[in-house]
Amino acid sequence: MAAAFPSACGKTNFAMLLPPRGFEGWSVKTIGDDIAWIKPHSDGRLYAINPEAGFFGVAPGTSAKTNPNCLATLRENAVFTNVALTDDGDVWWEGLSEPPAHLIDWQGRDWTPEIAAADPVKGKPRPAAHPNARFTVPIAQCPSVDENWDGVDGVPIDAFIFGGRRSTTVPLVTEARSWEEGVYMAATMGSETTAAQAGATGIVRRDPFAMLPFCGYNMADYFAHWLDLGHRLDVAGAKLPKIFCVNWFRTDEDGRFVWPGFGENMRVLAWMLGRIEGQADGVSHVFGTTPRYEDVLWDGLEFPRESYERITSIDAEAWRKELELHAELFEQLRERLPDQLLDTKRTLE
Ligand code: GDP
Ligand code: MN
Repeated sequence: MAAAFPSACGKTNFAMLLPPRGFEGWSVKTIGDDIAWIKPHSDGRLYAINPEAGFFGVAPGTSAKTNPNCLATLRENAVFTNVALTDDGDVWWEGLSEPPAHLIDWQGRDWTPEIAAADPVKGKPRPAAHPNARFTVPIAQCPSVDENWDGVDGVPIDAFIFGGRRSTTVPLVTEARSWEEGVYMAATMGSETTAAQAGATGIVRRDPFAMLPFCGYNMADYFAHWLDLGHRLDVAGAKLPKIFCVNWFRTDEDGRFVWPGFGENMRVLAWMLGRIEGQADGVSHVFGTTPRYEDVLWDGLEFPRESYERITSIDAEAWRKELELHAELFEQLRERLPDQLLDTKRTLE
């Protein structure tokens, strides 16, 4: 599985996912958490390598609860920047544990919960670690690392997963019905800005293929490349990876995440595997195919049907607006935009 999420949308967590209760006997192996270099192999399938030797992650929010594999990786040989220092010479950041009574903050100043409360930043106690404090650590130390993580041939890809932060509109998971529809999904992917996602009015920024910060040429040419690649592999008789769109971030009326996420995302992965193996069912809608409640494995989790409806429902009016936003993106890229994407849009409409 190769996933592309914009910054701060859960790549690292997803890459080191620990199967939840009810998934005994399943395992997830990690190849990398950030970058995949992908190319077709002699067997016609797409293979990926991870060009990096380490993880470079955001420390705040990382804990034994949210990402146990990541925390275990950090046990030794790790370099930290802009974290806080404990009195016994260890590192600390917000979300790691209950705040210690005393720290040296990332700027080298004394920090106590009282000092922090008296000097708030944006209404919250002054953080001891910078919100973008980072760690870097060898991948080989990750408990879930795949024995092939550094293999020169890479690993075959069965599925591409795209996804961003959307408090509304986009279902928990959707499978594209064709390669073209999958390219359309990835091309029109959007994510809500972090500041906006707390409020009701999320500002959706388009981030095609999660490549906006990295694409050095015309994005329309990038789309055309993906369409062409799929066409060439198809002609060569290769089994194309399936393409999925995920969204862990639908919220309720109080702005809380409805889906528990993290390890529970295994349930979504398991459905994808079922689709790849031709065993799982789903329902087709404007955007693609989404599992019904009964198509998901619920062993070990109480997740009510109503909550599931909340995060998978398709609101026609919201989708009309969504497609208008797709039109805005396509307008910007009009000059070289592949016709196939406009055709796909017309079909969805
Ligand atoms: P990356 O920058 O894409 O690698 O994202 P990270 O894995 O570092 O996660 C970014 C933020 O999203 C962190 O605050 C995580 O706790 C949060 N996050 C990751 N996965 C999930 C999930 O499944 N559900 C929710 N609600 N939050 C998540
Ligand atoms: Mn990351």
